[in-house]
Amino acid sequence: MSAPLREAVVDLDAYRSNIDRVRDWMDPVEVMAIMKADAYGHGIEEVARAAVDAGIRWIGVLTVEAALRLRSVGIGEDVRLFTWQHDAGLDFRDAVDSGVDLGISNVDELARIVEAVDQRPARVHLGVDSGLHRDGATAEDWPTLVQAALAAVRDGSIEVVAAYTHLAEASDDDDSAAVRTFDDLVEAAEDAGLDIRMRHVAASLAGLERPEFRYDMVRMGANLFGIPGADGVSAADLGLRPVMTVEASVAKTKRVPVGTGVSYDYTYRTDTETTLALVPFGYADGLPRLAQDRIEVAINGVRYPVAGRIAMDQFLVDVGDDDVRVGDTVVLFGTGDRGEMTVLEWGVALDTIGEEIVCRIGGRVPRVHVGERHTDDRP
Ligand SMILES: *Cc1c(COP(=O)(O)O)cnc(C)c1O
Repeated sequence: MSAPLREAVVDLDAYRSNIDRVRDWMDPVEVMAIMKADAYGHGIEEVARAAVDAGIRWIGVLTVEAALRLRSVGIGEDVRLFTWQHDAGLDFRDAVDSGVDLGISNVDELARIVEAVDQRPARVHLGVDSGLHRDGATAEDWPTLVQAALAAVRDGSIEVVAAYTHLAEASDDDDSAAVRTFDDLVEAAEDAGLDIRMRHVAASLAGLERPEFRYDMVRMGANLFGIPGADGVSAADLGLRPVMTVEASVAKTKRVPVGTGVSYDYTYRTDTETTLALVPFGYADGLPRLAQDRIEVAINGVRYPVAGRIAMDQFLVDVGDDDVRVGDTVVLFGTGDRGEMTVLEWGVALDTIGEEIVCRIGGRVPRVHVGERHTDDRP
């Protein structure tokens, strides 16, 4: 059997186990599993099926396009699909017909949704801009949106499923102020006669750290992928398991003399006779070029730094006199069980967050899903 050059192994058992863990914590609050950006690079169809198998009934997918894709592969209407980023010209008809939940920010979106309604009312979540200044209506625009929503409810075009907001996570005080804004606006909407059934506010970090922000539902992405966001807290500390492991296999080895310049620009030279191992994974695959002096990879349980420049498709490691052979597995990041770094450690080393690392694993890196269950018996 030939070893794959590069792959991202996605452990669906780990994902389901993270769901169980998080649902236990949040109980009785509902958990919406967030899967924007192709499930944070993990592959949305497989991840969505795993989530549903684990009992998830709310999935956040960002766009109507992604929601319709999940409907088309058999995620039925027992599962609510929440979307909140809509392009300006979007025709909402298919979304409404497929019972997709629509987060909206303004009267223009609402008007286009009302126009798209045919057989059944649209399911709408009213967004509040509580200070992040991304989606949602500002306090200034809120009363107009509420009036338009009231009119649309009365004529049967929409049902208001929820009000929601998203926090900046800048500080506890900032988040508390944002939630006060949210509460005030929701109360004003209710005073105006709008019936708001659910509220959702918190994502991974606030969901864990600010129980008072859980309301009826928390929207969790990073935690479920085993990438917790609090400083200095590892997945293992929380009983979460990293879901993605990125691997390559040694493609070539070469014995070279002392003083050999390695890769572009010769930023690394061997200080003795040694063996270089070629790893077929480059910046096109999501290993940033500036990772050169910042990350290490594991081969047969031993950590090695990157030797010389990272290229588009490959990099080298200096393995000394170790017995490293063509086909040996190189673990870039994963659970840590084989001596490798975790994605959280990559995030720290690269001055970013684990979410960015997993989302940027390149399109030519095959996602290999393990722990998939047969779902043929699902209705
Ligand atoms: C990404 C996102 C989430 C999930 O965030 P995590 O920190 O990954 O849990 C929740 N809500 C919205 C609106 C988002 O954009």
